[in-house]
Amino acid sequence: MDNCLFCRIVNREIPSRIVYEDDLVLGFYDIQPKSPVHVLLIPKEHIGSFNELTRDHDRLMAHLTAHIPIVAEKLGIKNSGYRVVVNCGRDSGQEVAHLHYHILGGRPMENNFG
Ligand code: 5GP
Ligand code: ZN
Repeated sequence: MDNCLFCRIVNREIPSRIVYEDDLVLGFYDIQPKSPVHVLLIPKEHIGSFNELTRDHDRLMAHLTAHIPIVAEKLGIKNSGYRVVVNCGRDSGQEVAHLHYHILGGRPMENNFG
């Protein structure tokens, strides 16, 4: 999608600090980190949110999800623990309409889901 921020990051039209990349997914540091370690893990394919998922995305989503602990290990937070957040739609506060996992770690977190 031409005007999608994260598609433009995938296409290198906007720079980012990449931590993991393969043919299907990209992991990069969040520009406004909410914890000492805050990485976004996205499918390279444009999917607006969980609400746009179809069964055609099953393999891609399994691949994406399986890479959460792989990225966490690379970031050094696999054993200390981390939180995975997905925002979907207006009430969640989703700002970028390209599906993404937030991977947050590097400090203890409260069980406050806002
Ligand atoms: P959302 O609120 O949609 O779940 O999360 C969007 C995230 O994208 C936010 O945490 C925000 O800081 C991050 N973000 C917004 N613009 C950019 C950018 O240009 N580069 C990077 N690396 N992250 C961004
Ligand atoms: Zn996109």
